[in-house]
Amino acid sequence: MSTNGNAIAKARDIAGRVIGPAAAEHDQAGDWPGSSIQALGDAGLLGLNVSKELGGLDAGPSEFVAIAEEIAAACASTAMIFVMHICGTEVIKQSSLPERDKVLSDIANGKHLTTLAFSERGSRSHFWAPVSQVAEDNGSHVLNCEKSYVTSAGHAKSYVVSTRAAAGSGITESSLYYVEAGTPGFSVAGPWNGLGMRANASSPMKLENSRVSPDSLLSPSGGGFGVMMSVVLPWFQLGTSAVANGIGRAALEAAAGHLNSARLEHLDVTLASQPELRARLASARVALDASRALTAEAARSVENPDDSTMLRVLEVKACASETALDVTDKAMRLCGGAAFSRQLPVERYLRDARAGSVMAPTTDALYDFIGKALLGLPLF
Ligand SMILES: Cc1cc2nc3c(=O)[nH]c(=O)nc-3n(C[C@H](O)[C@H](O)[C@H](O)COP(=O)(O)OP(=O)(O)OC[C@H]3O[C@@H](n4cnc5c(N)ncnc54)[C@H](O)[C@@H]3O)c2cc1C
Repeated sequence: MSTNGNAIAKARDIAGRVIGPAAAEHDQAGDWPGSSIQALGDAGLLGLNVSKELGGLDAGPSEFVAIAEEIAAACASTAMIFVMHICGTEVIKQSSLPERDKVLSDIANGKHLTTLAFSERGSRSHFWAPVSQVAEDNGSHVLNCEKSYVTSAGHAKSYVVSTRAAAGSGITESSLYYVEAGTPGFSVAGPWNGLGMRANASSPMKLENSRVSPDSLLSPSGGGFGVMMSVVLPWFQLGTSAVANGIGRAALEAAAGHLNSARLEHLDVTLASQPELRARLASARVALDASRALTAEAARSVENPDDSTMLRVLEVKACASETALDVTDKAMRLCGGAAFSRQLPVERYLRDARAGSVMAPTTDALYDFIGKALLGLPLF
């Protein structure tokens, strides 16, 4: 076990005591899981990837996926908030933002939640191609962006915002900016009422003539795409995969519990006595464990990069997201009308699992990228 083995145990403990018990209520109400995020912050887990010098845990991708899976098994919305925060933190870490160390130390102390604001109304799931464009005016950088979905919109203290660079003409000539909540022109532009992930406030967000200092750049001007691909993509792909795996794990645990407890009284047996149900449970578990193994391998590969790392990074989210769809569908069938009529949490897992495949890069886009990579073609 790594030095952060106790971080995984802490996450499991908080998931069991705080996050899990509140999940169904937040799902139903579609409201923000504030006490769950607070508990992660109090335990230092929001500073998972912040250096020890700044008060963080200095953990790497393997601990990250283990912790995200634990949180997701309790509440997928909370886990997605955590994943976006960790990705945003990675961008802040590699930047030369003047207040970087203060922000990171606040993150480590659980006082600062951040997130990614990439997807735009105009370019939809093609997050790598923002259509908004920053303007330079009198020493300020002026942001005008319509972001389509931003996890934690209105709750995060800062936003990692992408936009096309002032001098950018190509679709990937973007820049990343640090934008604090409350910056003039910032607004949450609508409610969030998702099918699943209902508690993660993934609302649209607008920046209208928001003036920021050039020092707010988190990437070289025009170098945002490089940071998205080399810094954000690996952590995002791993994190969303871990969330999908956690949802699948929770669904199969609930299904197994139901099979062991629901009785066919006329036969004096439980549903677990039915071989077809056991086989369906088994096939779902085999698929889930294959996905978890690929996720662990992808995390290891990101930690020790080689020629296969980019392929693993692209594959992992396609595999985990699609597996979660299959596993939660099987869990619904295993639990029959009891799941359909919402007597069990399985239908929440089914709804939550649908997010991964449509979050960018979507599974469809990933299959295209993977195909290009296998054929030696340029990805963009
Ligand atoms: C719960 C949730 C949280 C989110 N949080 C954030 C966040 O914090 N920050 C952020 O920036 N974004 C976030 N997003 C946005 C997300 O990453 C996607 O951008 C968004 O879901 C895309 O939806 P869309 O309707 O624009 O998809 P569209 O782009 O319209 O896609 C429609 C369909 O076309 C397919 N498609 C599109 N392009 C291709 C292609 N090249 N090849 C093959 N098929 C293709 C897609 O797979 C999809 O099936 C979030 C989304 C959700 C659902």
